[in-house]
Amino acid sequence: MWYSSRQEEKVLSAFCDVRILEHFSNASQRPDEKGESPRRSGQMGAKMHFVDAKGILSSGNGMNIYRGCTHGCIYCDSRSKCYQFTHDFEDIEVKRNAPELLERALRSKRKKCMIGTGAMCDPYMQCEEQLKLTGKCLELIDHYGFGLAIQTKSDRILRDLELLKSINRKAKCVVQMTLTTYDEEVCRIVEPNVCTTKRRYEVLEILKENGIPTIVWLSPLLPWINDTRENIEGILRYCIQAKVYGILCFGIGLTLREGNREYFYEALERHFPGLRKKYHNQYGYAYEIASGRQKELMEILRRTCKEYGIVCGTKELFDYMHAFPEEKGYEQLSLF
Ligand code: SF4
Repeated sequence: MWYSSRQEEKVLSAFCDVRILEHFSNASQRPDEKGESPRRSGQMGAKMHFVDAKGILSSGNGMNIYRGCTHGCIYCDSRSKCYQFTHDFEDIEVKRNAPELLERALRSKRKKCMIGTGAMCDPYMQCEEQLKLTGKCLELIDHYGFGLAIQTKSDRILRDLELLKSINRKAKCVVQMTLTTYDEEVCRIVEPNVCTTKRRYEVLEILKENGIPTIVWLSPLLPWINDTRENIEGILRYCIQAKVYGILCFGIGLTLREGNREYFYEALERHFPGLRKKYHNQYGYAYEIASGRQKELMEILRRTCKEYGIVCGTKELFDYMHAFPEEKGYEQLSLF
């Protein structure tokens, strides 16, 4: 199941059997749509490793078209050592045959289902602008009448808005957007190479206007950085205005382990003087870093969700994302 266990999905993806080819290519040097150059956004020098993958869909119908990520979130768990990257996490592994593999997999399926993507890396990194592999995979999902549950932090998803609408019309499309930090300046520090929370909220609004259901991942929340009432309330206001279907939150905190802990601590040292020591004293080498404000903030979240009819039960939300609307599948069959 692609989202029933995030860790399970990550392990599956990390062990996906790929054959690395010798081809390396410099990532785009072009400015992005906001005129932000790769150097400014910290992506200069990132490389792409093109590989031929042997398979694309996990047993739970999840897929990762890329491995590694250039968004640079300081807390990113995907960069942990256990995923066995043999190169820098920012040097993206591109499964260049992903569309061919996906087409083969979709054609061989007896039953339509939801296809998930975005669990291990963002499907709308800067390289997608040139490669368009996510876009091509979405075209196939649309063509074969499957559903889609896609997770991102990037407004580049709007480039595929017409495809998302078509998938939603024929089957079902759920967009999951991660929001962690209401303060725009702090957001630029913790998630440096992707659009900020305000822009992500605008994307949620656009999706709402186009009838596409959305779910917000309110995770992770970093002790002494964004585990505040103001932060939670600001993000909840966005969620209410954008009429999101649900909010996924597993608690107020984050996880740290070998690989991502060092990266996170170095970022703390650079941007939040004194915090590294505070984390070290409080949590040592713990895996689960729970905020001391967990109870208070979770209570605000639950109360607000109840008041505005936003689903926040984890199981309910995963069930929703996995549920393919059978009646639409029959409608499609009757057309042929
Ligand atoms: S978008 Fe996700 S995978 Fe990419 S750096 Fe951020 S947390 Fe990691």
